[in-house]
Amino acid sequence: MSHLPNSLEARDVAYQLHSYTDARRHEEAGPLVIERGEGVYVYDTSGKRYIEGMAGLWSVALGFGEKRLAAAAARQMEKLPYYHTFAHKSHAPSVELAEKLVAMAPVPMSKAYFTNSGSEANDTAIKMIWYRSNALGQPERKKIISRVKGYHGVTIASASLTGLPNNHRSFDLPIDKVLHTTCPHYRTMARPGESEADFARRCAQDLEELILKEGPETVAAFFAEPVMGAGGVIVPPQGYWEAIQPVLKKYDILFVADEVICGFGRTGDAFGSTTYGLEPDMMTLSKQLSSSYLPISALLVNEKVYAPIADESHAIGTWGHGFTGSGHPVAAAVALENLKIMEERDVLGHVRQVAPHFQARLRALARHPLAVEARGIGMLGAVEFSHEMLRDKPGALGGRIFAAMQEKGLIARNLYDTVAFCPPLIISEDEIDAMFDMAEAAVAEVAKETG
Ligand code: PLP
Repeated sequence: MSHLPNSLEARDVAYQLHSYTDARRHEEAGPLVIERGEGVYVYDTSGKRYIEGMAGLWSVALGFGEKRLAAAAARQMEKLPYYHTFAHKSHAPSVELAEKLVAMAPVPMSKAYFTNSGSEANDTAIKMIWYRSNALGQPERKKIISRVKGYHGVTIASASLTGLPNNHRSFDLPIDKVLHTTCPHYRTMARPGESEADFARRCAQDLEELILKEGPETVAAFFAEPVMGAGGVIVPPQGYWEAIQPVLKKYDILFVADEVICGFGRTGDAFGSTTYGLEPDMMTLSKQLSSSYLPISALLVNEKVYAPIADESHAIGTWGHGFTGSGHPVAAAVALENLKIMEERDVLGHVRQVAPHFQARLRALARHPLAVEARGIGMLGAVEFSHEMLRDKPGALGGRIFAAMQEKGLIARNLYDTVAFCPPLIISEDEIDAMFDMAEAAVAEVAKETG
């Protein structure tokens, strides 16, 4: 496609390398330039309106036009636009947000530590875990287990945790201390005749076997999303967490719950850990924490994690870690306002009210002959389509459906042949209907084209 010289599209192609994009294809196709947002909608530069069915990147809980978040940012910008939390310095927004997050945590947590992205939070978690093992005089306890299809970010360590081929291929990852255990996707991973409960138990057995093979004294932590997001919205089978958690406790392995997508209402509870009765030692939070109006992430750690780290920092003289933007006052002020609005408007109550309708429409979409499965919980869902029906390569059908949806004014996300939906939490029932009406029309169109 050729773009007008000097247009945003042409300048984008000329100057910008995009995340998760085939760069050569982008040179041909160019970008979709989004100009503004309001509620669950975003608008491109031609004025075309789209329902943002992914809340950006699973993140804009309050929608795209929340004036109070803009006002909170402006107030803080004028008062103290920047300060840091290095070397005993602090500021009110970081203190208030740390206090708030520790109070909100579903299990007793001791401290919050601020970072700027989910990847940084998970990367920092690994550094904390290694530092702690050294502090405890267990330098051999450094291995980390995560899961095939888990998503934990893209820095060298967090991309290693991520269990998806495209995050490893040609990057020389994963690093050697990171291991992956079974993906808890019942439909594709269960053996013939295996019940969901038996499959869940086998996932826990696989984890235990890996720990025993590696040597329990070498395994420090297990990272997992309560519900997998970018791996294809994989909801754990019945009994999964009940079987996994005792294995971790048995070998004194720390549990890090990656709540970057699930946190702050996505699953219909404050945290995914609440929904599934998880008892993590550490939690990583981001995305809906600030509705992504500004980048901020946080790591919550319990006393068992904090105390040895504090001792080690005392022995060395410092906890030699921190980002210039950690706990940025403007991002923290926006996050605080975001959490306040969620409480005042009872966004969680709203999610509980509309989620059954969202899930019903998701399942109705999956009754199409091209679909093989619907998965989801709360306001998170996906439909997997069958590329075999098309006799095309994996991902081709998902890509076509995604494109047809976008054409109709719906932005969803295709993860190979799975199409994910994760709209702003404030979405109304009518908007849910509009979203799935477009999705159904797009699938019908693709089915007709492909015969
Ligand atoms: N963890 C989970 C569960 C995520 O979904 C993501 C991003 O999608 C990350 C971590 C990484 O966050 P970021 O993109 O902010 O680095």
